[in-house]
Amino acid sequence: MKKVDVPFVYSSIYSELDLPPRHRYPIEKYRLLKNWAVKHGAEEHQWHKPSAISWQQVGHTHCANYINQLRTNSMDKARWRRIGFPWSERLLRRTLTSAGGTLLTTELALIHGIAIHFSGGYHHAHKDWGSGFCLINDLAIACNELLLKYPHLKIAILDTDVHQGDGTATLFANDDRVFTCSIHGERNFPFSKAQSDLDKPLAKQTSDTQYLDTLQETLQFIKRDVKPDLILYDAGVDIYQRDELGHLRISLAGIFQRDLSVLGFAKREDIPLAAVIGGGYQRNLERLVRAHAQLLRASYHVYTESQLTEGKTHEV
Ligand SMILES: [Zn+2]
Repeated sequence: MKKVDVPFVYSSIYSELDLPPRHRYPIEKYRLLKNWAVKHGAEEHQWHKPSAISWQQVGHTHCANYINQLRTNSMDKARWRRIGFPWSERLLRRTLTSAGGTLLTTELALIHGIAIHFSGGYHHAHKDWGSGFCLINDLAIACNELLLKYPHLKIAILDTDVHQGDGTATLFANDDRVFTCSIHGERNFPFSKAQSDLDKPLAKQTSDTQYLDTLQETLQFIKRDVKPDLILYDAGVDIYQRDELGHLRISLAGIFQRDLSVLGFAKREDIPLAAVIGGGYQRNLERLVRAHAQLLRASYHVYTESQLTEGKTHEV
């Protein structure tokens, strides 16, 4: 197998969270996806371990009062319920590490052209409130930290998770340096939508063909009108037909085609691409991990001209 150089960012803390039995969040998927990659040929030198970002860095994106409530577990109960995780020190540590992972992934992408984060995509976190399993917005935090270092960078956030990236949209509503784009289910959470720079709402039961056509239009728009120096790609797999929270009809092969289209576009246009795995909700973890693994397979196809061993696209 030809040597592979796609950087993978991962921390074991991503799956180290005690949740109540039957909790909706598939906390094990991060560890299982890492195991999948190792089993299928990922090499030692590809792995990068992120550090937690500081609360001071979080303060470049979120407001001080909200941060204080998170740190001290002093948030109003109803507002905390909206987030959906039980509060713990470990949750905070995991959250900061995941945001650090997305930041590291963008930095690696600027160096190598591509990098993949085995977490991230907490796009429902707004400036002063969180929801839908999102405490802080790792995508926005990574952009703001990069922009402090490289003020002239133009970043496009391409969010293809089935849920609209509402937090990201509002955080960058008045910032021309970051173009926000969301392709999502129209009648799905969040039911009150924010306004991204470009929104592509999709009807329930949207098929592979319709989906991939919409994606192509979006990529052409980004090429023509945005011309970014970096793409931050949320590759959520809750668009999958078997997802328990999505309402689209995208097959596993369709997910692979989506990832192949986005990564192929970035490579052809010579735009560095940092990907996060985003959402994906199935009780069947093997099937869920197989869906997320399409992004890894696509990265090998596009960037290394080799393939992960035993790569399969058939349904499991
Ligand atoms: Zn989602």
